[in-house]
Amino acid sequence: AAPAEEQELTDGFNLLIDAFKLNDIDTVYGVPGIPITDFGRMAQAAGIRVLSFRHEQNAGYAASIAGFLTKKPGICLTVSAPGFLNGLTALAHATTNCFPMILVSGSSEREIVDLQQGDYEEMDQLAIAKPLCKAAYRVLHAQDIGIALARAIRSAVSGRPGGVYLDLPAKLFGQVMDAAAGRASLVKVIDAAPAQIPAPDAIKRALETLKGAKRPLIILGKGAAYAQADDAIKALVETSGIPFLPMSMAKGLLPDTHPQCAGAARSTVLKDSDVVMLIGARLNWLLSHGKGKSWGSAPKKFIQIDIEPREMDSNVEIVAPVVGDIGSCVAALNSAMGANFPKAPADWTQAISKKREENVAKMAPRLMNNNSPMDYHGALGVLRTIIKERPDAILINEGANTLDLARGVIDMYQPRKRLDVGTWGVMGIGMGYAVAAAVETGKPVLAVEGDSAFGFSGMEVETICRYKLPVCIVIFNNDGIYRGTDVNQSGTPDPATTVFVKGSRYDKMMEAFGGVGVNATSPDELKRAVNAAMDSGKPTLINAVIDPAAGSESGRIGNLNPQSALKKK
Ligand code: ADP
Ligand code: MG
Repeated sequence: AAPAEEQELTDGFNLLIDAFKLNDIDTVYGVPGIPITDFGRMAQAAGIRVLSFRHEQNAGYAASIAGFLTKKPGICLTVSAPGFLNGLTALAHATTNCFPMILVSGSSEREIVDLQQGDYEEMDQLAIAKPLCKAAYRVLHAQDIGIALARAIRSAVSGRPGGVYLDLPAKLFGQVMDAAAGRASLVKVIDAAPAQIPAPDAIKRALETLKGAKRPLIILGKGAAYAQADDAIKALVETSGIPFLPMSMAKGLLPDTHPQCAGAARSTVLKDSDVVMLIGARLNWLLSHGKGKSWGSAPKKFIQIDIEPREMDSNVEIVAPVVGDIGSCVAALNSAMGANFPKAPADWTQAISKKREENVAKMAPRLMNNNSPMDYHGALGVLRTIIKERPDAILINEGANTLDLARGVIDMYQPRKRLDVGTWGVMGIGMGYAVAAAVETGKPVLAVEGDSAFGFSGMEVETICRYKLPVCIVIFNNDGIYRGTDVNQSGTPDPATTVFVKGSRYDKMMEAFGGVGVNATSPDELKRAVNAAMDSGKPTLINAVIDPAAGSESGRIGNLNPQSALKKK
């Protein structure tokens, strides 16, 4: 063996960086601290983009949406116990939404943790992470870092995508080994998400079912957006002539203005359709579980395309399950359909077009008001035009009324441009998503936020200013949650539980960090400010003053909000 001083060495820090680079992982979202501070520094020096946040949950949300946008696992890096727990919400969110993500957390000494002897930030993180993700791994030896990252990547992106946890005890980072052996221990993942080809029988069954339909409908979900099979999906929709309904994050996969888009006739198509083909959408609460009032009383047949076989029959019978990746499944449908496949019946498509035109016409005048203070429709009418004029901008959207109304009002024109609260309807994704959307796509970002929703991640405006990201945040400020008008019934001086400081000026937060802040009190002012922000690319926050009485309790999902019948009047 060579004398010690001539032997080239590597360590855990460098092996992890090399393993990331070997697998084209070029961006890390995290919060520095023990034991990963030096790792972040070294990764940055080695050419990885390391974005430091103010709270791990926001870094985690950023990683999760980076996964959705790129089909590569988004990486979130945290410290042990509390940092890990802060990141865990986002990991569970990624798993629930089927976004590939890896939460990499430093952890304390195994020997002390396992004997529960009270180490610095002691916690059995691996055990805690397990039920919230697809897979969880711990690495004890530097020579296993390569294989561990390979397993993590494969687990995150193959099959149904989701969250993976990678536990790295502090000691691992400093472990030294021979550099050549270290290099040899790294693994480049080949074909991380292999195509999953549907069975020919399943394709045949699906097409037979479609052929028999009088009132067919295609529902596109965020799985379809994730799959990046945009051309194949467009071909399927247009060849079949079937009306399509996009779920919120599938908006823009085909433009909302496409003649076959049934977005503005949603309740009609759910009720009246007889055959429904789900593409990357689950029959969960967002689709009323495929049954009940919103689905009408006529018998319905479901065709479902999904990569996860267990999704079939989750809520109702699926008469034609098609299991495989959406790209392969839709391509197989397209080639089996050929050019002579019967078009969706004209009486059905015309009835939908009519309904849709009526609804659009009903909405139009409300969107054109210039009221001050603004109502939701006046403000959203302006934003709708801005997205129409800038279709490659990314729209981020959270809140209650701000979410529900913006989803309906703002048309999307390109795939994967609308990012929102997802499967949980969670509040707090806003600024994390905004950072990752800007970083991963290089496109301008417009974040339309309820004042309450914004509060969950508001401190990240500093992050946005620090990295000089082209993000324009519009806060629909109605002084509170749902509405700003609630009154405390008890007579104590405390404000009601759902209201905030009246007349807050969120725009001043942005100015504190060198960004542009604007207070907008009318749709005209709002329009000017957003256009200026989108043109300049400067981090901007617009405090859009909304009438505190506008908005309704729980937005469109008031039915999920239990209310006491016994409440004192
Ligand atoms: P939405 O909320 O938009 O309806 P969901 O999150 O409920 O969407 O559904 C997404 C579905 O897409 C999940 O069931 C997931 O398994 C599936 N999926 C994700 N990626 C793919 C893919 N590449 N191929 C096939 N199915 C996918
Ligand atoms: Mg509000």
